[in-house]
Formats: sequence, structure tokens, C-alpha cells
Amino acid sequence: MSVTPERTTLCQTCEDVEVTEFLSLGMQPAFAFPADAQEAATEPMWPLDLGVCTQCSLVQAMEPVSERILFNGDDYHHLAGLTAGYRGHLRGLADELAALHGAGERRGSVVEIGSNDGSLLDELAERRFDVLGVDPCGSESAAGSPVVRDYFSSQVGKEVLATYGPADVVVTLNAFAHVTDLHDVLKGVTAVLDDEGMFVSESHYLVPLLEGVQYDFAYHEHSRYYSVTALQAVFAMHGLEVFRVDEVDTHGGSIRVFAGYPGVHGIEDSVGELRRVEDALDLTDLAVYEEFARRVARQREDLRALLRELTADGSRVAGASAPGRAITVLNYCDLGPDDLEYIGEISPRKIGRLLPGTHIPVVDQKAVLGGPDQPEYALLLSWHIADEVIDRLRSEGFRGTFVVPLPEPRVVDDA
Ligand SMILES: [Zn+2]
Repeated sequence: MSVTPERTTLCQTCEDVEVTEFLSLGMQPAFAFPADAQEAATEPMWPLDLGVCTQCSLVQAMEPVSERILFNGDDYHHLAGLTAGYRGHLRGLADELAALHGAGERRGSVVEIGSNDGSLLDELAERRFDVLGVDPCGSESAAGSPVVRDYFSSQVGKEVLATYGPADVVVTLNAFAHVTDLHDVLKGVTAVLDDEGMFVSESHYLVPLLEGVQYDFAYHEHSRYYSVTALQAVFAMHGLEVFRVDEVDTHGGSIRVFAGYPGVHGIEDSVGELRRVEDALDLTDLAVYEEFARRVARQREDLRALLRELTADGSRVAGASAPGRAITVLNYCDLGPDDLEYIGEISPRKIGRLLPGTHIPVVDQKAVLGGPDQPEYALLLSWHIADEVIDRLRSEGFRGTFVVPLPEPRVVDDA
């Protein structure tokens, strides 16, 4: 059987190795909340299928949807500075970078790829770094940190170098998993990075994703799901080596990976430690991913059964918060307005709109889940920060019971 080139997915790193599909999450929308039924009727959906390259272990979308389709200005609702936990996380990263860059008058220069609302840039500027953000829909930050409104690329990397000089730090939080052309972005990174500089990327980590059945972290905005093994492979192609890895809690299990030119930074034990974990898991073995896909299918059946059971006596269930992961899990599990009456949210940019794909109304969390006619159950769609969400809902007056969808759907007792 001949395979036409259009139907073959080649590894985004290796470029000449075919990716093997292991999980289909069905048709999924982008992270753009329709304003009303009319807008919802024409909402675009694309198949979200994941595959793995058994040569370099990179897990990737079979058909990545271009970031130019996905991240269009005002429709981009992911604001970095929103949760208190995430703000603390950015301060921790800023402290770590400051500790690595001495105590001089100026600590050095930082370029952030995907600077979003500029929260991290402001933290770094406060610690005496010269900062610059690059983000196609970035906004000027609260403290006025500058931003170049463009997609980062090899061309933009050269332009930033010409205008601002080499960067001591290039940092990117979560944007590194959704850039469309991985090699072109890395060319831009090496163009602007000082010879002794460091490239710091933070991404969701493949290991907890596999072990915790976190398929809800897959959405079109993520073209790739990284391990240290996979990052070492693609960095090596650009003359970079990983010298330090921190495991961080953000997004339910992420890695902060430090890379530089060979021999400049001593390679720390953390790199070998995580490589040993990954080698033991055998991340280039397709069977690992097939088992993951079976657990994902089981979770879907279990969640649907649990919600049927809870509502059999006429009880009502609402969702609590609508992050990207809510979109994936509700669309994959085929849960719509008949299953969840509405979803409570705190973001004014989502309230009054519809959840992408399943079109469940998104309402003001405090007014509805904390109000007099509240539902008996709240499904925690931000289950990865359950404690923070539970505290907030209780303080807003929610008296019902919490349900978590993952890794095993269950009712939780927060007393
Ligand atoms: Zn590969």
C-alpha cells in the first residue's frame, strides 16, 4: 500500500521519521469561547489525535493546527497573571533566574517568548533585568515592560539581536509546546542567545501526563508534549545541551529545562536523574502509549457513569472553572448542557460566553455556584489546582459536594 505524502505525519524533530498515532480525542475546538449560539454554530473543530516518534520519543499532535489560526488577538483567553498560585510560581522563577545572575547593578537581559500579559517580565524587571517580550497578542504589562507583537522565529530572533544585542536569558513558559515550527524557533533562540547565555523553557512534562492520565492537557494549542529525552534530541540539533532540569507543579506537572552551549554550564545531577526515570519507562516503546490510551478510554466511561449515578435522584451538577483542559475533557467525554447545567468562572473574558465545542453556558462562579439556587455537585475542571479552587468556592458560599474528573473520577470530601 502506498501512502501519499499528505497523509503521512513526520516527526517535528527528526523530520524523516513517521509518527505512530496512539490516541484519538475526537473533534476538538480551539480555546476561543463563542459569544452566543450563532457564533457557536460556525465554530471550527479539528481532530485531536496524538502520536509518538519511536526514534526520539517526542509525543506530538498528528495534525497540528497552526498557531496563526489559534491565537488571534482578543480571542486568546489564557492570561498568565490570573491565579494566585501561578503568580507565586512566576515570582519563584524570577528569584531563581536572579540567583543565577549575580547581584550587579544590572543582572543582564531577558527575552521572553510568549510573554502574554507581561507578568513574568515585570517580576524580572523588578529584579534589575532588562526585559523584552515577544508575543503576537501580548499586552503591555502592568509595569510597562516592552513587547514586540510578533510570532517568535529565526527572523525575529535576528531582528531582536540587531536592535537589543544578545540576550543572557531566553525564557519561554508553555509557549514552547505550541510554536508551529520548532526548528525555526530554535534557530531564533540561538541567533539571539549570548555565547554564555541560557535558554529556559517550561513545558508540561510527559511523565506525569502519562502516569496521571492527564489527557486533558492535550489541546490544539499544544503541538508537542515534552520529555527530557525528546528535548535533548532536538536541542542537540541546534548545538544546545540541557544542563539543569527542575520539576515544577504548574499545570499538574511541568519541567523547567535549562540549556546552553556545550561546556559553558556544568551539567547538574538533575539531568541524569530524570533521564534514568524516563529510560526506565521506555518512552520510545509504543506499548507504553497504547496502555495510556486504554486508561484514557476507561476514564471517559467512569466519569460518564459517575455523573449518571450522582444525578439519578434529581441532583444537579455544574462545572467549576473553564481552563483549556476543561474543553478537552468535556468534548472527549461528550458532556454537554444536559450533563452540566453551566460552568462557573472568575474570568470576565469567559463569563457570559459558551464553552467551546460542547456549548455549556459559562457563568459568574460567585453569583451562581455561591448563590441561593446552587447545584448539589461541582465538577472541578481545574482539578490540578483543586485546593485553590475549593477554598475559593467555599469562601464564595458553595455548600455542595466536589467531584474530580481525573485521574480517577470520584467524589471528594474536603472537610
Ligand atoms: Zn523524532
